[in-house]
Amino acid sequence: TRERMVVGNWKMHGSLALCREMVPAMASVAQPDAALVLCPPAPYLGEVARLAANTDVQCCAQNVADAHSGALTGEWSAGMLADLGCRYAIVGHSERRRHYHETDHLIAAKAQACLEAGITPIVCVGESWVHHQTGQTEVVLQHQLGTLLALPEWHRLIIAYEPVWAIGTGVAARPDTVEAAHRYIRSRFATRDPVVGNNMTVLYGGSVNADNATQLFALPDVDGALVGSASLQSDALMQIYTAA
Ligand code: 13P
Repeated sequence: TRERMVVGNWKMHGSLALCREMVPAMASVAQPDAALVLCPPAPYLGEVARLAANTDVQCCAQNVADAHSGALTGEWSAGMLADLGCRYAIVGHSERRRHYHETDHLIAAKAQACLEAGITPIVCVGESWVHHQTGQTEVVLQHQLGTLLALPEWHRLIIAYEPVWAIGTGVAARPDTVEAAHRYIRSRFATRDPVVGNNMTVLYGGSVNADNATQLFALPDVDGALVGSASLQSDALMQIYTAA
């Protein structure tokens, strides 16, 4: 079923002090009917999970391993996130695809590891500027969604549509562009099961801020947002959440 949600991805920003400021601030506005999710850098996950316990703020990792345990220095498993009380993990962010060479195959394996551990993966998809400009958005999305559609529990995924060219630019994709991409993403899942596919949660990410959130959330196929830079400021994140 579709969930209303606002997810703040801090990327590699923030501090212990920011965790201690943001979690109580967000807890004061969070409601059970729309998820408010914070994704601090991994070293702060324990602190955020501890501060968020018994509030309506949820904790989410920015990345996770595809294995459950092993000699894999520098990695952490979905089971460890569940152990902390984290409910979600971002998987396949474009920055991980680009800078750490994550493939669709690896991303699907990470999503599968999350599902097995009871963590809901928020899987990021989205096209580059060149693909956008040359009208290849749907081809790219079809490719990125292909390995996800093969997962036995595909219906438990949350998808975040993040056009790479709208991330960190201050200019979000146009509402008609966002709506068309979200509708296409739903249509791919609907090929597996029309009802369940239509009820998937699909978030938009890319320069969401307090000024454009209301317009984006009004789109019929947008269930919420994956917010980067605006999620580092409690007033901006609160306004975006209130718009949801
Ligand atoms: P910005 O909101 O800073 O554009 O970042 C979007 C993003 O990548 C969230 O995951």
